[in-house]
Amino acid sequence: MTKISRDTTTMDYPKRYDVIVIGGGHAGTEACLAAARMGCQTLLLTHNIETLGQMSCNPAIGGIGKSHLVKEIDALGGAMALATDKGGIQFRVLNSRKGPAVRATRAQADRVRYKAAVRDILENQPNLDIFQQAADDVIVEGDTIRGVVTQMGIRFYAPSVVLTAGTFLGGLIHIGLENHSGGRAGDPPSIALAHRLRELPLRVDRLKTGTPPRIDARSVDFSELEKQWGDTPTPVMSYMGKVEDHPEQVCCWITHTNERTHEIIRSGFDRSPMFTGVIDGVGPRYCPSVEDKVNRFADKDSHQVFIEPEGLDTHELYPNGISTSLPFDVQLELVRSIKGFENAHITRPGYAIEYDFFNPQDLKYSLETKVINGLFFAGQINGTTGYEEAGAQGLLAGMNAARRAQEKDAWCPRRDEAYIGVLVDDLISLGTSEPYRMFTSRAEYRLLLREDNADLRLTEKGRELGLVDDERWAAFSEKRESIAREQERLKETWIQAGSDEAKQLEQKLPSALSREYNLYDLLKRPELEYNDIGHFKGEALADERAAEQVQIAAKYAGYIDRQQDDINRLRQHENTAIPLEFDYSIVEGLSNEIKQKLSEARPETLARASRIPGVTPAAVSLLLIYLKKHG
Ligand code: FAD
Repeated sequence: MTKISRDTTTMDYPKRYDVIVIGGGHAGTEACLAAARMGCQTLLLTHNIETLGQMSCNPAIGGIGKSHLVKEIDALGGAMALATDKGGIQFRVLNSRKGPAVRATRAQADRVRYKAAVRDILENQPNLDIFQQAADDVIVEGDTIRGVVTQMGIRFYAPSVVLTAGTFLGGLIHIGLENHSGGRAGDPPSIALAHRLRELPLRVDRLKTGTPPRIDARSVDFSELEKQWGDTPTPVMSYMGKVEDHPEQVCCWITHTNERTHEIIRSGFDRSPMFTGVIDGVGPRYCPSVEDKVNRFADKDSHQVFIEPEGLDTHELYPNGISTSLPFDVQLELVRSIKGFENAHITRPGYAIEYDFFNPQDLKYSLETKVINGLFFAGQINGTTGYEEAGAQGLLAGMNAARRAQEKDAWCPRRDEAYIGVLVDDLISLGTSEPYRMFTSRAEYRLLLREDNADLRLTEKGRELGLVDDERWAAFSEKRESIAREQERLKETWIQAGSDEAKQLEQKLPSALSREYNLYDLLKRPELEYNDIGHFKGEALADERAAEQVQIAAKYAGYIDRQQDDINRLRQHENTAIPLEFDYSIVEGLSNEIKQKLSEARPETLARASRIPGVTPAAVSLLLIYLKKHG
């Protein structure tokens, strides 16, 4: 018998890099782009160039809490929002009737166009090389990373390596009681690297996530389904984006599961990998599978299903809300029990995937591992779920990997500066036992951290870090100056009682103006908008985004100032001593869990209290108030 020998190339690649990024998903693309923008010679090593920027699950970007991350990535010069504007086929602002802190832009994306936009940005990025190959090993000397070895045995060297392997490490795909290795449907897992990483002194565990079956639109009866269109005017995701960047906009639909669907799902429980103990990993609480929903909310006889097109050039639909790993026969029956899907053809079965993730408490705030110098982790491997969470970490890790290569100190935004800061702080101080996703409720300074002002919060810092190019910087500077100029003009422009302008405004006000007012104070009134007063005695701002900032700053000035005061006070009092025998049980407003943590740890100062995992800034604030009052 002829023995087939495997040709293994072992060579040192001739070019030395500053930063190597493993994985071309959402974390990896932002990581390599950030490092390259900062002038580092960067290598992106990924399984398959065709899957750069691939959306493994739902073709949508943004949404509550997540759009804040996307806009922060954008404010720091990243790619996600730009690609969303090029690939987005339906845009909506969620919570648009609520306050600006919780408003969130969400875009349904054409997955092919999104990927193409990401690839275009990557391929045109100076200082960045892309190489298609699996990374099978990392080169570690002592406690320091030196490089990466690919499947073919090519050794690439760099002082900083960012690992962003997503769901691929030890990936195991489940459909019913069948399972097989895979990184996601259609892609190989990362087994050799997973084994190698398990040799390092890092805490590893398993998580799981899942995806719904996809459906052929030609087999769906849309006639009785509720339609859902995007917003008009169409929102944009990037601060540099224009509505003209968007492709054609399309409609989504809504349908519902019903009692029959739930019966079918229950009938499959005995062949479900989740309920028979085949899957060990914990799944995302806020994105549960349909069988999980039916099991957990047994009293509900219906769940909403959003039907979202996967793109403009395909018939495939994504039925958002019926993620499942039940056996295929059950999947088909449950899908066909839903209104509109009676004759549905499934193009791809739903499945669940289990994968290795690393305890993020083993990371520094730069996302560098504590045990291996120069090895950074970002994305799903840190226990998060979602493209946006991955992208945000990728940018931060790539930037800090570059700073390490440049022998500069690491940087991470604080909780009061960015959702990225909240994300990293939560992960590092609390760790996670289930896939972590972002919500606005995770941030205590929501009014300061809005999606509309991410550029004002971060672009200047991004410029200083070398992440923001000249074009973005010029556009940002112009916007910031025009906001400041307009605020000054409004403060200096006065409207007399009885004037024509006053009469116009009084149509909206409950009573006549009794004295002279400046325009800025008038803008603070709840009945008036910038559009009502901006054109008085001058020209209103043409840039709607700048005008929005002027309006929000005026209307929410009191709350914003109070939040800023809280932050300053907390920072000033970090050294406030806490008596050793302090009785935490008497502090009102602290949760029992936090009281217990503080009682056990007995921190000496507020700063130390704030660093105890699980003790939130809000809790520290309550503690400070108590100590000041009774101290
Ligand atoms: P990924 O996007 O997974 O990218 C990893 C990249 O690394 C890939 O390009 C891969 O080829 C490459 N790679 C891996 N190992 C190697 C190696 N050794 N060498 C070279 N390249 C390598 N998120 C949600 O928010 N909600 C959901 O409901 C949801 N459901 C999901 C369902 C499924 C089935 C899957 C697979 C994912 C789901 N996700 C969901 C998660 C979402 O896809 C991820 O959060 C996001 O893609 C993570 O981005 P990432 O960059 O960390 O990893």
